[in-house]
Amino acid sequence: MKKVLSLLAVLALSVSLCACGASGAANAGGDAPKGEEAFKTVEAGKLIMATNAYFPPYEYYDGSDIVGIDAEIVKALGDKLGLEVKIEDMEFDSIIAAVQSGKVDIGLAGMTVTEERLQTVNFSDSYAKGIQSIIVREDSDIKSIDDLSNDKMIGVQLSTTGDIYATDDFGTDHVTQYSKGADAVLALTTGKVDAVIIDNEPAKNFVEANEGLKILETPYAEEDYAACISKDNEALLKAINGALKELTDDGTIKGILDKYISAD
Ligand code: GLN
Repeated sequence: MKKVLSLLAVLALSVSLCACGASGAANAGGDAPKGEEAFKTVEAGKLIMATNAYFPPYEYYDGSDIVGIDAEIVKALGDKLGLEVKIEDMEFDSIIAAVQSGKVDIGLAGMTVTEERLQTVNFSDSYAKGIQSIIVREDSDIKSIDDLSNDKMIGVQLSTTGDIYATDDFGTDHVTQYSKGADAVLALTTGKVDAVIIDNEPAKNFVEANEGLKILETPYAEEDYAACISKDNEALLKAINGALKELTDDGTIKGILDKYISAD
């Protein structure tokens, strides 16, 4: 009986922690059964997310608002955890440093989980699959990945996995880095590079927005997207994974992905 009562007390405590989470400096995680699972965020009651908002359909500007898959997922995570979401736009290359140094709470940027990044930050469970695709001009003689070895110039977005893999496979002399994916695509349309390696969903958007480009049918690499969180904030990682699981189980994540990605 005593056990039952103390269990009830713990439950009551965790319910009350959840209820006041939004205003406290420490917020009880979605699944957190006890006070010790409470996590901290940079600003009490807020979840500050870093992204690079030039990566449609994951993140892009609609007027002055940053919208897209990651913006909606973080909003749903914030709602679950009782946190108000604030999105900060920065270079893709700065996101991990911002997370690691505790300037922001979380990074969502269609970011691929890699062994190297795992040395510096933690990643949540994956919420989407990514593909590195190759964009070429419609009249290109590049028909497959192998043709990229023939003294071609490849445009990439700085520090992305497309950049890392292309540099590994074809060497720095054959890779030009641009700070935005759109700039790499512009370089392709004007003949400065022969191909662009970039994530498939933005690739589809860029090909639609620019005449005379196509995506090669063979994918260059397949990957997992996840949110990055500081290694110093294990409690936030747990809370995010708990919320992510609920949002996956109830179909919210799939609904958000389907809204932006057509099943072709
Ligand atoms: N998925 C790629 C990476 O993580 C590109 C992400 C992006 O450009 N936003 O490196």
